[in-house]
Amino acid sequence: MNTTVVTVDKEHPDKKAMEEAGRILRSGGLVAFPTETVYGLGGDGLNPSSSQKIYQAKGRPSDNPLIIHIADLESLEKIVKRIPEKARKMAEAFWPGPLTMIFEKSSAVPYETTGGLESVAVRMPSHPVAMALIKEGGGYVAAPSANTSGRPSPTQASHVREDLEGKIDMIIDGGSVGIGLESTIVDFTEAEPVILRPGYINQEMIEKVIGKVKMDKGLLITDEKVRPKAPGMKYRHYAPKAPLTIVQGKEEETVAYINGQCREMRKNGKKAGVIATDETREKYQAAVVKSIGTREDEEGIAQHLFGILRDFDAEDVDGIYSESFDTPRMGQAIMNRLLKAAGHHIIYLSEEEDF
Ligand code: AMP
Ligand code: MG
Repeated sequence: MNTTVVTVDKEHPDKKAMEEAGRILRSGGLVAFPTETVYGLGGDGLNPSSSQKIYQAKGRPSDNPLIIHIADLESLEKIVKRIPEKARKMAEAFWPGPLTMIFEKSSAVPYETTGGLESVAVRMPSHPVAMALIKEGGGYVAAPSANTSGRPSPTQASHVREDLEGKIDMIIDGGSVGIGLESTIVDFTEAEPVILRPGYINQEMIEKVIGKVKMDKGLLITDEKVRPKAPGMKYRHYAPKAPLTIVQGKEEETVAYINGQCREMRKNGKKAGVIATDETREKYQAAVVKSIGTREDEEGIAQHLFGILRDFDAEDVDGIYSESFDTPRMGQAIMNRLLKAAGHHIIYLSEEEDF
């Protein structure tokens, strides 16, 4: 398949290009597009065969449901059975934005889109290109992240091209995304709302709006028998090709430990990589050292995480060590992704980190 790549202005996407993309979606094709979180791979969420094509292009297990993206609140009524009061408040506070909510689905939503579940995940993104595409594409765009299943989520169009060129109809290049981690998911199908995936909108921000919310047990416990409720959270994910180890501790301890491991690897003829920060990059003696940014800017760390994991695949390293980033505001979201990338392999030197 020939994949058309169009570049658009983020704030004012070209009308003709968006109309063409909308036509592709309405006729059952697939279009990758930027959102404020990561790039999405869009298809018509109410068309069962479009959803099947999404699973196929990504190599994604078909029990892992898709998020339907809408452009206005009226669209929500058609695809859900009811909207709980707390969910309404959340929509008022955070939509359009990086928040996904789970509702009981209406009969308009095919099981192909929900991975066979009776519930449906819905988000209203704020990115102008995403908004324009949803409006042109019929109002209900099912879109998971636009990466091959298991690889780090794409934060720029070149990542999408690496994974999906030749497999989808169109890629809309709207530059780098702003947040860099996928949306926060909150489940409203139970009596008490539950966070199924941490993101830019954190627990504290949510609790200010609707009071107490729980974290899904599967997110907090690394026991493999406790299954996370969002089916996608159980898969190994975001993984670079080389094994990744996270090291948690004070800065000096962490640097010393990682340098020791790197020396060991070099002795054995292996090439080591390190994910460092601007503050520590000069202190490492590994073959490849990449900085994720400064510890002063946790949003920057979130934004660079997936890109840096991808960059290491081009470096031909045998193992990667990463500092831990349990930052004050987005730490839960960042560490959730990093732990998955590392297959939960983390070394605790001490509980504390320097912030
Ligand atoms: P992605 O689109 O790649 O960001 O992945 C979507 C995430 O939302 C996956 O982790 C899914 O398992 C989760 N998800 C989508 N729909 C539902 C649902 N109905 N119930 C629970 N989790 C869902
Ligand atoms: Mg994904």
